[in-house]
Amino acid sequence: MIIVLLGPPGAGKGTQGELLAARLGIPKIATGDLFRAALREGTPLGVEAKQFMDRGDLVPDSVILGILREAIASPEAVRGAILDGAVRTVPQAEGLAECLTTIGRKVDAVLLFEANHTELIRRLSSRTTCDICQTPFKGLQPGTACPRNDGGRLIRRQDDEPEAIQNRLNVYEELTAPVIAWYETHGVPVQRIDAIGDVTDVTARAAQALERVQHAG
Ligand code: ADP
Repeated sequence: MIIVLLGPPGAGKGTQGELLAARLGIPKIATGDLFRAALREGTPLGVEAKQFMDRGDLVPDSVILGILREAIASPEAVRGAILDGAVRTVPQAEGLAECLTTIGRKVDAVLLFEANHTELIRRLSSRTTCDICQTPFKGLQPGTACPRNDGGRLIRRQDDEPEAIQNRLNVYEELTAPVIAWYETHGVPVQRIDAIGDVTDVTARAAQALERVQHAG
């Protein structure tokens, strides 16, 4: 199954994507994580992405489509993949669809994680993130060792500063929200998931939504 995760920043796509990927035994492809890893390694991709990411702007579509093409064609993705935050504009949705068509595949499901703005801002502004595994944590100060013991330190992501958060939410409304209607009009079922509540409850809702899609197909 190729599953696209949609939802505003802070809705929990990363957390849920990881849990669903483990459950389904398919990889999670998170473009934001790929860019931050590239930046840590100092590759040209990382350096290019940084200027957009720090402000909370989107990385150009052409860059994203190159990454998506490569990820979809990789051997790890033969059984499917979870695309976390990897489709953020209508041209990206179109480009991904074209690329999948050429290899006889398609997006099977879209999961839309929904939460209100107050909750999103609260989550983003109160989290710290491991600079190695990129897992977000709440209630831990910057500089703390990563609880996963991977040698990483918790940092406040530059795009989790208030101005960048507001920009990311605006960018989501303007450029990413139209992707929902695009999938609906192109015959891909969009499953809306209430992203408020315990992580495990949200995962259960997402898993149920995927079962509904599988039964319908
Ligand atoms: P969030 O979803 O909370 O904004 P991510 O870690 O997924 O955080 O992404 C961080 C940043 O990476 C985005 O703000 C954006 O600059 C860039 N990015 C990731 N995926 C895409 C994409 N598909 N299109 C454009 N930019 C992207």
